[in-house]
Amino acid sequence: MQRMAEAADLAAHPGGRTALSGRWRLYWLVLALGAALLASLPVLAGRDALGLFLGDTARRGDTTLRLAVATMRGQLARFERLPQLIAETALVRALAASPDDPDLVARTNAYFKHIAVLLGASDVYYMDLSGTTRAASNHDTATSFVGGNFAFRPYFYDAAAGGQGRFFALGTTSRKRGYYFGAPVSEGGRILGVIAFKVDLDAIEETWRGGDDEIIVTDPEGIIFLASRAEWLFAGIFPLTEERLAQSAATRRYADATLRALPLAETPLRGGHRLATVTEAGTGAREFLLLSEAMPDVGWTVSVLLDTASARRQLLTALILALLVAGLGSMGLAVMGQRRARLRERLQMQTEAQAELERRVVERTSELANVNVRLEAEIGERTAAEHDLRKAQADLVQASKLAALGQMSAALSHEFNQPLAAARNYADNALTLIDRARVGEARDNIGRILALVDRMTSISKHLRSFARKPGQELVAVNLAEVVAAAQEIAALRLQDTQAELIVDLPADLPQVVGGPVRLQQVLVNLLSNAADAVEAGADRRIELSARASAKGVRLSLRDHGPGVPAGLRERIFDPFFSTKVVGKGLGLGLSISYNIIKDFGGDLKVFNAPGGGALFCLDLRAVAEASGGQAKA
Ligand code: ADP
Repeated sequence: MQRMAEAADLAAHPGGRTALSGRWRLYWLVLALGAALLASLPVLAGRDALGLFLGDTARRGDTTLRLAVATMRGQLARFERLPQLIAETALVRALAASPDDPDLVARTNAYFKHIAVLLGASDVYYMDLSGTTRAASNHDTATSFVGGNFAFRPYFYDAAAGGQGRFFALGTTSRKRGYYFGAPVSEGGRILGVIAFKVDLDAIEETWRGGDDEIIVTDPEGIIFLASRAEWLFAGIFPLTEERLAQSAATRRYADATLRALPLAETPLRGGHRLATVTEAGTGAREFLLLSEAMPDVGWTVSVLLDTASARRQLLTALILALLVAGLGSMGLAVMGQRRARLRERLQMQTEAQAELERRVVERTSELANVNVRLEAEIGERTAAEHDLRKAQADLVQASKLAALGQMSAALSHEFNQPLAAARNYADNALTLIDRARVGEARDNIGRILALVDRMTSISKHLRSFARKPGQELVAVNLAEVVAAAQEIAALRLQDTQAELIVDLPADLPQVVGGPVRLQQVLVNLLSNAADAVEAGADRRIELSARASAKGVRLSLRDHGPGVPAGLRERIFDPFFSTKVVGKGLGLGLSISYNIIKDFGGDLKVFNAPGGGALFCLDLRAVAEASGGQAKA
């Protein structure tokens, strides 16, 4: 139900969808920006980022470098003093003195060969001052130095000048790289020749091979003369300028080996690292971390080149990780944003629904208030109408009372005026008759006047019955007794009319509620009316019967007279209604009887009996057992 309402709401407010898609566009924009930023990270950070990951590599390279330098220094230190020592031996000095002595030469050759093996030197040899080799440890080999002139070598001319000869070179004869030490051989302060001692450095290089890192040793001209990688030998890491080439050629350091350039581009990195890119024909460009240490006493530079691949891999891993984290972060943010947007949307819908509900409540409340106002107005109208009605009823009652009074006044005036007028006539006549001394006739007239006065007295007596007190005490009445009394009073009248009264009263009749005298008056009235009715007819029977009914007792009085015409049935209970001749009926009997019976809580009705004649039914309430009323006369 609510969903339907929401859908309806969305349909009604398409602007909500637009706002939603707008928010989505924003999320995608943020996501794309984040991704673009991350993708450009390697470009932004570049080699500087690599520097952050080169720490481990640099530490490893540092160790390797120290080890390499220490090994080199140790190796040179081992042989440093030996040439001087050899130069001072008696045999060498003897040879220096007599270089052409074959015996001395032979002995020196043998000695040199012996100590070369003993000391681990590559070659030991003696040169005279012209630079010609006179004796050598390799005298008996194909590459014997004997006879060879090495005056161009710095170790020779430095030593010949009295200093210490030091030189590194590729052997011109042996074609082997070696480090040369030179020491002067002097006799009596005069330098006679030079002892040269060549140390083979191939063994050191051997230990570098097979390692992960490359080690190179370069001379002051930047030519690599020791390298863990054989193909880099005799390659220059600096551009091979004319000057440099001439320098090398002068000392024939590299004999006739061809020198070439090693394309090594160096880039300084943040953090003090040096990055070297070596481009070779076979392997392409390779990137190394370059660490160097100078050995100033020998003029060498030992360098370690460490492959940056592992650092690059670390950088890549870190970048991927960062990307992943950033991606996940962005996704998380997007999801969070989406959730918040949904929540906002739901809250907005709820607020709108609430507002709608409140609006409807207000609407309904005002409707109810209107209805209430209308109802109050209607109630007011009804109350006014009721008031008017009551007033109208009261007016009507008043009017009826006045009408009844008028009617009664008219009837009374009629009833009294006629006899009064007649009485006046009779009195006038009586006066005239007395004046004429017709006493008998006057007396007759006076008799008539008296009869009229009697009639008016009778009317007045009957009228008094109206002045009854309706609230008179009601008692239990024994019907049989009342009927007997009434029979007695009416007996004379019944006799006059020769009517036959047939009474049928069951013995077990219950007592009824009423007043015995008034009930008796009613019965006398009904009986005299019945007698009047049957007077002129042939059937003069009058039947009085009583039966217990649902509410009490029903008394029925039936005569065999003419009955009551249908048109008059309603009116016979009205006061002064009579069909009888003047002087016979006053028209008050039934009216008084009706009122008496109503006072008793009973009823008086008239019917026409099936066989002809009138039937008066008198319903009376029986005395309730509970009230236990005692009959009082
Ligand atoms: P009254 O007897 O003085 O006329 P009532 O009130 O007793 O006054 O009766 C009213 C009228 O009812 C009578 O005039 C008569 O027309 C009619 N009436 C009463 N009793 C009978 C009866 N038993 N049979 C026929 N008409 C009757």
